[in-house]
Amino acid sequence: MPEAVSPTPKTKSNRDNITQYRKNATQVIRLNDKCWLCGEAVDKKLKHPDPMSKSVDHVVPYVESQDHSIDNLRLAHLQCNLSRGKKKADAVRVTPYSRKW
Ligand SMILES: [Zn+2]
Repeated sequence: MPEAVSPTPKTKSNRDNITQYRKNATQVIRLNDKCWLCGEAVDKKLKHPDPMSKSVDHVVPYVESQDHSIDNLRLAHLQCNLSRGKKKADAVRVTPYSRKW
């Protein structure tokens, strides 16, 4: 008796991810007025690449979280978003092993 072949679960395609991101990002922009990084209002009329224009930031960077869910997205100024990314890289501090004995 042949076994019924169960349909293999579809893995999420990249396109689905982008669609999900766009959808959630739009929602985040609509629901929020303030930059989550500096707390100042975001003028949604400003357009990229204006440093004060709106942008959507990942709380946990996408490379780490693979998460485009609305919980992982926040409204931020483009400038704040970019400087945060930079800061993060700078924040990787190398702790010297020098100990005073
Ligand atoms: Zn900001």
